[in-house]
Amino acid sequence: LTDTARSALDRLTAVVPDFPSPGILFRDLTPVFSDAVAFRAVVDALAEPFAGTFDAVAGVEARGFLLAAAVAYATGTGVVTVRKAGKLPRAVHRESYDLEYGQAALEIHQSDLPAGTRVLVLDDVLATGGTLAAACALLERAEATVVGCAVVLELGALGGRQLLAGRTVRALDIV
Ligand code: AMP
Repeated sequence: LTDTARSALDRLTAVVPDFPSPGILFRDLTPVFSDAVAFRAVVDALAEPFAGTFDAVAGVEARGFLLAAAVAYATGTGVVTVRKAGKLPRAVHRESYDLEYGQAALEIHQSDLPAGTRVLVLDDVLATGGTLAAACALLERAEATVVGCAVVLELGALGGRQLLAGRTVRALDIV
C-alpha cells in the first residue's frame, strides 16, 4: 500500500461506536469509496499481489461488490456475487456462519463458474473471519479454486485469520 493510500484510509475511514449494535466499533469505508483517488488506490492495491493468479473476483454482499466489480474490470476478469440468503434466483449453495453481531447465511449460484476457475475473494473488512470463510467454502463447493482473500481493513484483535488458516489473506491495513 502506498503512503498516499494508507493516509487516505486513515483520514477517510469513519469509526462509528455502537453500530449496528452496542459494543461494536464499526469501520465505515464508504468515504474511502467515494473519494476518487483513495478508491483507485485501494482497488489497485487489492489486486496487485494477486496479479495474474485469478480468472474471476468474488465480492461479498454488499460492500464487497463494489471492490470486486472494480478489481474485475481493472484486471479483465469476471465477477461473482456472494449474496445474503434468499436473493439469488437459481439453484444455490448455502453456508450459515456466526458474525461479530449475530448469525447469517450466504449463497452463490451453483453454476456461475466453470469448475477450476481461479477466484480472488474480496470484502471491505475482516472481523471474525466467518464471512470470508463461508464465502471460500461456498466457492469450493462450486468447484472453484480460491487463490486468496483480500480486504481493505483487518480488525486484528478479533483473530479472523484463524478461520482462514491455510489460505492466503492480504489486508491493506490492520487496526
Ligand atoms: P466477519 O464475518 O466477522 O469477519 O465480519 C465481516 C463482515 O461484517 C464484513 O462483510 C464487514 O463488512 C462486516 N463487519 C463486521 N464487523 C465490522 C466492523 N467492526 N466494522 C465494519 N464492518 C464490519
